[in-house]
Amino acid sequence: MVTERIYIDRNNIDKKLLERAGKVIREGGLVAFPTETVYGLGGDALNRDSSAKIYSAKGRPSDNPLIVHICRYEDIHVIASDISDMAVKLAEALWPGPMTMIFNRKSIVPKETTGGLDTVAVRMPGDDVALGFIRAAGNFIAAPSANSSGRPSPTSADRVIEDLGGRIDMVIDAGRSDIGLESTIIDMTSDVPMILRPGFITGETVERICGRVAYDPAVFGSENKGVRPRAPGMRYRHYAPKGELTVISGERDRVRSYIIERTAECRSNNVRTGVMIAEDDDEWVERYKSTSDLVINIGSALDEDKIAANLYEALREFDDREIEEIYSEEFNTKRLGQAIMNRLLKAAGHKVVRL
Ligand code: AMP
Ligand code: MG
Repeated sequence: MVTERIYIDRNNIDKKLLERAGKVIREGGLVAFPTETVYGLGGDALNRDSSAKIYSAKGRPSDNPLIVHICRYEDIHVIASDISDMAVKLAEALWPGPMTMIFNRKSIVPKETTGGLDTVAVRMPGDDVALGFIRAAGNFIAAPSANSSGRPSPTSADRVIEDLGGRIDMVIDAGRSDIGLESTIIDMTSDVPMILRPGFITGETVERICGRVAYDPAVFGSENKGVRPRAPGMRYRHYAPKGELTVISGERDRVRSYIIERTAECRSNNVRTGVMIAEDDDEWVERYKSTSDLVINIGSALDEDKIAANLYEALREFDDREIEEIYSEEFNTKRLGQAIMNRLLKAAGHKVVRL
């Protein structure tokens, strides 16, 4: 199969092109599309064969459910039931946007889409290209992130093509995704909204709107201690670069001398290393360069939005350069630190050196 790439200008959206993309979905095909979080791999959410195709294109385990993307609030009632007042408030405040809510599933949604579950994940993305595409496709798009299973999520059409080129019908290219981390997933099936996956929308925001919030213990990485995450996707190795990633945690100077020592040792053994940091100036980039093959500064320590936006792209750049061992500093920033560290630790398979 040849994957067709179409370009959409966000400032002047070509409806005819989106109509063509929508037709591919209505005929049972797969289209990768931009959202404000990451690129998604879309199929018709109400067609079991389309969902099956998504799993096969990604190599994704079929018990890892997809998110159903909608473009109008009222469509929630077509696919989900028992919508609480809190859910209505969250939707009013945060949709369209990077928030996914879990509800009881209506039977119109095939179990192939929900990974066999009786619940369904719903999101209205905050991206006009995505919204126009969903509308053109018939209002219900099932989509996980548009990467091959296990790899870092794509934040550009180039990265989608790298993983899925030849396996899907079309990619809509509208440039880089702004946020760079997948949506916050909130389970709304019990009395207290429960965060299953952290993201750009924080627990504090949910608490402010609903008065209450709970966290799945797996959010804090407890799956290592035998806690089974409630979002099936959080069970799998994820976001991982090909090189071996280790997070170095502790007091800044000690972290830095440890990384210098390790990378120097690797170099003397002909092992290619990479280092990931977030710094305002490039002084440490230069210092790390003396021992390491690729140093990526993903943003300023004070600009967490930038760190989030660049994280997955950086992990893929290490692969482009065939880096064998990657050392990352920690990014425990104020607002997005939980979401950023959740992804980074998963990418590292929870390999952390604590100094
Ligand atoms: P992705 O967009 O690739 O991260 O995949 C969608 C994510 O949503 C996965 O982590 C799923 O486990 C999660 N998800 C989708 N549906 C449900 C559901 N019904 N209950 C819990 N998690 C879900
Ligand atoms: Mg994913």
